[in-house]
Amino acid sequence: MTDIRLTNTRTRKKEPFVPLDPANVRMYLCGPTVYDRAHMGNARPVVVFDVLFRLLRHVYGTDHVTYVRNFTDVDDKINARAAATGRDIRDITEETIAWYHEDMDALGALRPTHEPRATDYIGAMITMIEGLVARGHAYVAEGHVLFDVRSYPDYGRLSGRSVDDMIAGARVEVAPFKRDPMDFVLWKPSDADLPGWDSPWGRGRPGWHIECSAMSHELLGAAFDIHAGGIDLQFPHHENEIAQSCCAHPGSGFARYWLHNEMLQVEGKKMSKSLGNFFTVRDLLDQGIPGEVIRFVYLQTHYRKPMDWTAEKAREAEKTLQKWHYICMTVRPSRSAPTEFLDALADDLNTPQALTLMRKYAKQGNAADLLACGHLVGLLEPSMGLWFDRNDHLKLGEDPRIFEITSVRERARAAGRFDLSDKLRKLLIESGVAVFDHKPTSRAFKEPDALLRYALSGANKAWEAGDKLAAEASVNLLRSAGFQISLDEDGPSAITGFDEVKFDKHYEEHMEKALLEAQRVEETLEPEADDT
Ligand SMILES: [Zn+2]
Repeated sequence: MTDIRLTNTRTRKKEPFVPLDPANVRMYLCGPTVYDRAHMGNARPVVVFDVLFRLLRHVYGTDHVTYVRNFTDVDDKINARAAATGRDIRDITEETIAWYHEDMDALGALRPTHEPRATDYIGAMITMIEGLVARGHAYVAEGHVLFDVRSYPDYGRLSGRSVDDMIAGARVEVAPFKRDPMDFVLWKPSDADLPGWDSPWGRGRPGWHIECSAMSHELLGAAFDIHAGGIDLQFPHHENEIAQSCCAHPGSGFARYWLHNEMLQVEGKKMSKSLGNFFTVRDLLDQGIPGEVIRFVYLQTHYRKPMDWTAEKAREAEKTLQKWHYICMTVRPSRSAPTEFLDALADDLNTPQALTLMRKYAKQGNAADLLACGHLVGLLEPSMGLWFDRNDHLKLGEDPRIFEITSVRERARAAGRFDLSDKLRKLLIESGVAVFDHKPTSRAFKEPDALLRYALSGANKAWEAGDKLAAEASVNLLRSAGFQISLDEDGPSAITGFDEVKFDKHYEEHMEKALLEAQRVEETLEPEADDT
């Protein structure tokens, strides 16, 4: 079994990971407060800890890992957004959760096992707060319930600071009813126009920190394995979670491994709206940067180092991924990723090293291992490659003249002039270009090799999606084009080797002839409608 080692913030050491129960490895990640699109910094822990989730599933078994990531759907920022826009709170939170799913799915992040919403766990929070009051760790003052930090001697241990140091360094909210400036809110009163629930302390709403303590307890138990989040949450959020949970469930120990990812910058600067370098994940997706490319850029930096998002890195990542998709188009992944690759991931999630190894496999033409590694870190998935298919002809290394001739041929077909389209088809084939007609468009490939890779990859995707008819149709087309293709229960695969297909040495001559003919055909066709 792969030995995982993780850097535990609590001990400041890289430690062997030993789960409490290997049959149910449990992990919690602090999720978003849902009032706006997730920005690039918010998405970093999602991608980083998705890799950890995938690694744990690989090592302990898919059904033996429970991953919880919450939605904070009661918060003063949400209330403020509702007041500013005049919209209903529920509308805002529902819409934001749907956006979040859309954007994180695009980054290839698996959905966690549970995604609890805070408002569904108010009862558990009230019970926990009652317990803290009963044990003398919390007190009621002016409709608020506050946690008494001086009642928990280990407060500050995670960040390695004493309460007095923290007071000196933090912006603490001073309130006359607090016994100590570091005491934090567990429950606060709500006016009639704010969301509120009945409680022993009157109508009110929970503080932010108690949400994670209550939800992790309900779904993972009093003690679990991993608690993760951005380094910005270490203090005060995670200190407060530990204080609440350890005082409510003495002796449980709460989470055993604390993992924190470093922050993200954009083009070397802190992301800020005033600098114009503030991006949500959606902004980048809308600019046409595929989610897979964004994920790749994240994985290039180790999670414990600050990362810099740059447009240049995205361009480089796109080029690399295009190459990898192309190499992997017609292969099946090897049964397991190579040991050296697993070892890199198991070594405190060394994703930069993992990508270096993938580059090596790509260079060696070792597509089966490349694909197996890709799947393990959420890259090169069939669904993610759709952006690659969308990038038509030229990206497959084709001749632009083929594209031109094919377009004219398509127009001839659309006009019902099959005599002309067949003439062009014949000329293309004479040049050694393989023509592949399928509804509603046709494609032509300079090298039969490219046709084979393209069509076979389509057939395999259809097979994997359970669409046997579509897969068989593609296989039949390939067979009619002269390729030997086998089809068994594992899906279609090529018998004709890629190196057996040769490219005509009179290509240039033939291509010029075909192009001239296409230009003549174009003149005989009706002019294209012009929108401009
Ligand atoms: Zn949390």
